[in-house]
Amino acid sequence: MLSSKHYWDDPMQDEFSVNITSCTAQDGVYHIAIDRDVIRAEGGGQAGEKGTIHSGSDTIKITNTITLESGAMLIADAPVQVGKEVTIKIDMEWRLQMMRNHTAEHLFVSQLKRINPDIDLGYIWIDGDAGTVEILGTTEINQMFEVEKEVQLRINERHPIISSLISPEEVTSKVRARDGVQTKHDQIRIIKIEGVDESACSGIHAINTSDIGVFKIQDIRIYDESTRVHFVTSKKAIELLAYVFNEALARKQMYPFEMEQLGMVLDKAKKTSESREHLMALAVKLLAEDTRFETVNGIRFTHLFLPGFDTRDLRMCLKALPTHEKSATLLFSPGQKSSIIFWVNGLSHPASAYVSKIVEEMGGKGGGSKDSYTGGFGEAQEPQVIYNKIVQMIRKNLVT
Ligand SMILES: [Zn+2]
Repeated sequence: MLSSKHYWDDPMQDEFSVNITSCTAQDGVYHIAIDRDVIRAEGGGQAGEKGTIHSGSDTIKITNTITLESGAMLIADAPVQVGKEVTIKIDMEWRLQMMRNHTAEHLFVSQLKRINPDIDLGYIWIDGDAGTVEILGTTEINQMFEVEKEVQLRINERHPIISSLISPEEVTSKVRARDGVQTKHDQIRIIKIEGVDESACSGIHAINTSDIGVFKIQDIRIYDESTRVHFVTSKKAIELLAYVFNEALARKQMYPFEMEQLGMVLDKAKKTSESREHLMALAVKLLAEDTRFETVNGIRFTHLFLPGFDTRDLRMCLKALPTHEKSATLLFSPGQKSSIIFWVNGLSHPASAYVSKIVEEMGGKGGGSKDSYTGGFGEAQEPQVIYNKIVQMIRKNLVT
């Protein structure tokens, strides 16, 4: 018979006296079994619980709780003597957050099924950090936002959550089947979110939907035949919302825009970035076709001052430039952090021999292989002055 468990009846009790029934070393950790079912093992899409074992003056960490054929097993970082009576303390931060995330999953799935009754569920994972629900079939991103809104409404409405054990004959069509249904037992545990949802489940739940506080979808990944929704709740959701909002707020001071226009600002950034790619490709093509160069000591010396180029653009430019038997090429991108690439072909010294000294003298850093030297300047005061000095020095070094 399916009997009730401590963590179902009183999930707030966090300390228990138990006896160690077995302890074995396994792959660098210890599998410890205890005589009471007081800590929930991984199962039904929910992560295992964590905590500590207190034995005399020793504190042993429980990093996870798993289910083996022999029963629930604590994964611990040190051994405990079999037969010993110890105290187990549950990691309540992890448990409470898992209760909120898991209850949020009940709400999310129930609201999703209300809006779109035809969907099926795949993978589910809930732990003390976040929750992931996989939806099979096609979904739309806006529908996920609609579900999110409904979940938050159910949280705000403060629905009590009640669990009960019933016989299979008592199960009505209202009850939603989900992972962890205890069909092998003669009793089924039903979780009722009053007025919202009823489902069979063996997990630990919040006492009221309001315990969840805030529900926020963090990511939606749409694949060909499924969608994975990743969500956070409570303080993690508040931290996420504050982080994203403040990232925008900090920039609002620098480039004035209204918060309502954030989507438009991002669209514009994407467009600008695409246009820049096109312009850069064109600029590189033009440079490659008509590069000014000077001849020093029989060596073709090309040097270009290229505002607006980043290191990637400089490399693209270098690749596009025509190669010559004896050549030295300097590309310099000025900016708050200026960068240089110097490349040699068919010369008697490695690239660094021509530039590293002057770069370092002017407060820059760099390095590279035989043919190329890449460097940069932290807070370059006058990039044009630095550039001119490097060109002069290279000219001098090419002669010697
Ligand atoms: Zn549940």
